[in-house]
Amino acid sequence: MTEKATIEVSEVHWLMDMFQSVDVGLVVLDRDYKIQVWNGFMENHSGVTPYDVRNKSLFEAFPALDEYWLKQKTDPVFVLKNRAFTIWEQTPHIFKFKNYRPITSVAPFMYQNATFIPLTDTMGEVTHLCIIIYDVTDVAISKIELEEVNKELKRLSQTDRLTNLNNRGYWEECLQREFQRQKRSHNISTLLIFDIDHFKKVNDGYGHAAGDEAILHLAKILRKNLRETDIGGRYGGEEYAVILTETDVQHGLIFAERIRKIVEESHVLYNDIEIKFTISMGLAEYSDQFENHQNWIEAADSALYVAKTDGRNLVRTFTPDIERVVK
Ligand code: GH3
Ligand code: MG
Ligand code: MG
Repeated sequence: MTEKATIEVSEVHWLMDMFQSVDVGLVVLDRDYKIQVWNGFMENHSGVTPYDVRNKSLFEAFPALDEYWLKQKTDPVFVLKNRAFTIWEQTPHIFKFKNYRPITSVAPFMYQNATFIPLTDTMGEVTHLCIIIYDVTDVAISKIELEEVNKELKRLSQTDRLTNLNNRGYWEECLQREFQRQKRSHNISTLLIFDIDHFKKVNDGYGHAAGDEAILHLAKILRKNLRETDIGGRYGGEEYAVILTETDVQHGLIFAERIRKIVEESHVLYNDIEIKFTISMGLAEYSDQFENHQNWIEAADSALYVAKTDGRNLVRTFTPDIERVVK
């Protein structure tokens, strides 16, 4: 062998070494999708050796691959000499390899990005295609975890700590949206606001912790009785509000009466002491007269005020007369 040939052979040898041990997957296919090259990364993660797959059709060797989808990606690479890419956000993986990292609970499988490169012969014809597989599991897990944390933060920022109901800020946002929707919709919604009667007496008589138990008890009753589409929230200390979507005031009255009665007939157990309390409730159906969502709240609030002055443990509905009385 000449010196030049010896150098060339050893260069090919290094190249093959690098090719085998590089930390990305390399697969070369001919135009019939027969596997020509299968590097160490692919062997280690699939358990399939290059000898097992050499000259085998990719789709026979890996029946789980979506042939139609993959060909949509690779055909332009063969025909137009373009590169193509896939990213894990759209296609989590091309080859379903187990993820052996310690944080397996989040990702049982390796997330992959992939690049498809046309390989040309000396005449410039695309005779082969190279798929490069990148393991992006770490990046994917970080992003997924970050998204989950953000989702949880968002939920917490919208939730009242004591009752787990929507907090006032978020509930009011919902009402604002519902108000805008009502302007365009023919299905009337009704707003319900209620407040524990003589709650100061509960706090004064049994202590603040007992008062908290009463608030929780009421929140549980409310949650249990809400429909999917109703939006309940803790409006104030011992005040609650519910947007009864697509519900007129007659049906709202039935709902309110039911809650009022359940509360009246139930009790809270605190340190083996039975604490009983009642609630007063105000209802206001949406009206075109309201200029903003605040007007809607004021209407329900004035009905609540009438329920209080009429003797408590009552449900009252808003009418324009009430408004005049309250003002
Ligand atoms: P009314 O029938 O007129 O509503 O009488 P009330 O005693 O309930 O009067 P008011 O609504 O003014 O009083 C509310 C009380 O609720 C005052 C406040 O100390 C108490 N409170 C507000 N938030 C909480 C809370 O989170 N926990 C407890 N234990 N008490 C609270
Ligand atoms: Mg109050
Ligand atoms: Mg009260």
